[in-house]
Amino acid sequence: MPYEAVIGLEIHVQLNCATKMFCSCANRPGDKPNSNICPICIWLPGAIPQFSQDALEHAAAVCLALNCELQQESAFDQKVYYYPDLPKGFQLSQHHRPLSRHGWLDIMGEDGNSRRLRIRHIHMEEDVAKLVHETEGQTRISLVDFNRAGTPLVEIVTEPDMRSPHDAMAFLRTLRTQIRYVGAAECSMESGTMRCDANISLRPLGSQELTTKVEVKNMNSIKAVGSAIAYEIERQTMLLDEGKPVIMHTRLWDPEKNSTSPMRAKFSGPCVPDPTVPRIVLSEEWISRMRSRLPEMPAQKQSRFIQEYHLSDEEAGLMSADRDVADYFEALVRENVSSRIASQWILTRLLPALRERQQEISETMVTPQRTAALLAMIEREEINVKAAREIFADMFETEKSPAEIVKEKGIKQIGDADELDTILDTILADNADAVTSLRRGNKKVAGFLIGQAMKASAGKANPKILATLLSRKLGLEC
Ligand SMILES: [Zn+2]
Repeated sequence: MPYEAVIGLEIHVQLNCATKMFCSCANRPGDKPNSNICPICIWLPGAIPQFSQDALEHAAAVCLALNCELQQESAFDQKVYYYPDLPKGFQLSQHHRPLSRHGWLDIMGEDGNSRRLRIRHIHMEEDVAKLVHETEGQTRISLVDFNRAGTPLVEIVTEPDMRSPHDAMAFLRTLRTQIRYVGAAECSMESGTMRCDANISLRPLGSQELTTKVEVKNMNSIKAVGSAIAYEIERQTMLLDEGKPVIMHTRLWDPEKNSTSPMRAKFSGPCVPDPTVPRIVLSEEWISRMRSRLPEMPAQKQSRFIQEYHLSDEEAGLMSADRDVADYFEALVRENVSSRIASQWILTRLLPALRERQQEISETMVTPQRTAALLAMIEREEINVKAAREIFADMFETEKSPAEIVKEKGIKQIGDADELDTILDTILADNADAVTSLRRGNKKVAGFLIGQAMKASAGKANPKILATLLSRKLGLEC
């Protein structure tokens, strides 16, 4: 029987606020263990949480970026459970009255059509402490680091609208782009600032019923979310085909084995309203002020780039997916670089070079102005593309202008026809066989001869002029 997968996601995103959610300790979980702590965030009895306005603004920005409706009233509950990473016995979370509801994101489906995936709600939550497992001599020990305790999180709960690993991965990528645009979080699954659990069930294709779901946790990349869902669909298909029931439980993804295995169930208690944090009331004015602070979002930017710069859909999508890339692109265009050359150079040269150096676009000293100067030299045919690549690599290491680098390296392009003529004559004399073959119509040989001439000029010749000269000399068509 053909089945259809029904997939929903629960995504935790760590907000990049300067302080924690209920105290003024620094929100830097990676610092020396237990250095950012106070009575509130190690949860000493009697310490009263002080809700951070900054956390609220970050969370609201996430909600608006994901097209959610901010609720005029929301409130915190105590989610009761016991674990060494939560010694107070409950976590502050908005269980009954979340900050926002009814959001959505559009993704590109596997069939190339746009699809709208719904978000049920987004609520705020404090993170718990982190357990560190080590060995001391022969003894295995577990330590608790409270730096992460009280870190501001939002949890995004989707409707079960996804049908494939592709849908889930596309949703997560779009979500990450949207949240990064408003600057509220880093959203990196690799570094743990975004965590995702997936709920997966199967039903006969065409049916509308919801069947028993299985939760999968512990994926540390968007790709791993896709792999874990694919594995789980296969596992449940086998069970159903054998007539065995799917049992509701939680499984852990193992990236090494590329499979999931069941994990022991945690006791989870009730959620009761918290009496210490006042309910959160948002006025219409406050909500519209937050809305007015939103930047131009990716979809708007993409259509503006198509209109204004005549980029293709795809180019405009690539140029607008990251805010820093989009700003760099527009800065190049302002420096009179043509939009097509600007987008090509960013995609094929700048971004790979940054990846190689593990640098962010905001950190590099290769500013749009310096890049524009280099691209102008190519356009004026003062340097060839090969030399430009070399100069570009140098620009990551030195603040000298491209013109100064060219001068120092002596790699100014030879465009002088007389000089090139002399070089070409020598090459033709040395390669009589190739010349004969070219005269007989073997055009591939032209590339070889030009290559030899380039080599003889130490890469400085203008290959276009060389090609013209060669054709003229041998009486061939250009
Ligand atoms: Zn604290």
